[in-house]
Amino acid sequence: MFPKYMGLLPDRELLVNLRKELHKFPELSGNEEMTSLRITRFLQELEPDEITGNIGGKGLAASFRGHSTGPRVIIRAELDALPINESNDFDYRSSVPGVSHKCGHDGHMAIAAWVAKNFAAERPAKGELIVLYQPSEENGRGAYEVLNDPLFESIRPDYIIALHNLPGFERNEIILRDGVFAMASVGMIIELRGRTSHAAEPEKGVSPTKAVSRILNELPVLAERKEFRHFTLATIIHVKIGEVAFGTNPGEAVVMATLRAYDNGEMEKLAGMAETLIREIAVKERLGISVRWTEKFPATVNDEFLNGMIDRLGKEAGLKVNRIENAFRWSEDFGWFTKQYRGSLFGIGAGKGHPQLHSPDYDFPDDIMEAGAGILTSACRELLKI
Ligand SMILES: [Zn+2]
Ligand SMILES: [Zn+2]
Repeated sequence: MFPKYMGLLPDRELLVNLRKELHKFPELSGNEEMTSLRITRFLQELEPDEITGNIGGKGLAASFRGHSTGPRVIIRAELDALPINESNDFDYRSSVPGVSHKCGHDGHMAIAAWVAKNFAAERPAKGELIVLYQPSEENGRGAYEVLNDPLFESIRPDYIIALHNLPGFERNEIILRDGVFAMASVGMIIELRGRTSHAAEPEKGVSPTKAVSRILNELPVLAERKEFRHFTLATIIHVKIGEVAFGTNPGEAVVMATLRAYDNGEMEKLAGMAETLIREIAVKERLGISVRWTEKFPATVNDEFLNGMIDRLGKEAGLKVNRIENAFRWSEDFGWFTKQYRGSLFGIGAGKGHPQLHSPDYDFPDDIMEAGAGILTSACRELLKI
């Protein structure tokens, strides 16, 4: 049995149906047109004070205002699915080959819709509640683009809160960490240019092979240097040298790596050191070089006051609250929001043996929807009384 959550309407079935509908029609980052439309239709029924569309691409926000001025609180959910072929065969499985909701964003969207429904039934005491559905979380672009869209000016929050379901933790366990919750990361694309020659006369060309070999050995080690105070990591994710042609000594190569760091300062430092190292190697090997950066996620840094409130509300609702010792190594583009605003991203356990995020058999567990919506609703009610 679920405990009673303050202000949560008994709309489970409606929201579970919405979640399953979203699951059936997934869309990739940047292409969330129909998902955005489905959510807009759902929210329109609730008659919010305002719906703003096309924020940072396909994003949208609905606002519910109180009778007097007060703080503005944003609940953030994500619209995008992943390029993964679903292996489940339930009736609401993905209808799009090669695309599916494998991060539970369908569930997060339904939870935010439930919060909206609660505030539609009873407006906040003060201030404004906003449910924000952002696009492109999976590639780190959505939150950045939402923040930098002029439309965001009118919904700048005092507080912003989001949750993410986490397999590997007990169902409905609340997972919190003050300060860094999820680490920073960035993708690095290194292109090396030499000159091809006949494979019988490698000395007449400029092959990138030796440089690639050095990068593969030295880049991961760079992140292990003692001068980093916190966790840093460099993982090689892709390598390509020349073409498959046995008569040709290669003239070009591409190496890609993902860099991670506990905090934003050390992320900058690691990225700078990586670029210096690679440019030195290229000069030594007489190669042309270009370095590009992609999928940049700042660290998600949680506010202690908000975390304290979520902790207390979780316990009041009879949930287990787990204050984790170490930050998660993965990244969340919610970090773009916490860079500028007081925010909290908390985890909600999806079940110990639940399939992992981004795996083909994953599906959002509907059993955690009430706890998620309940905590968010009561947290917002409390913030909008201040
Ligand atoms: Zn994901
Ligand atoms: Zn996710």
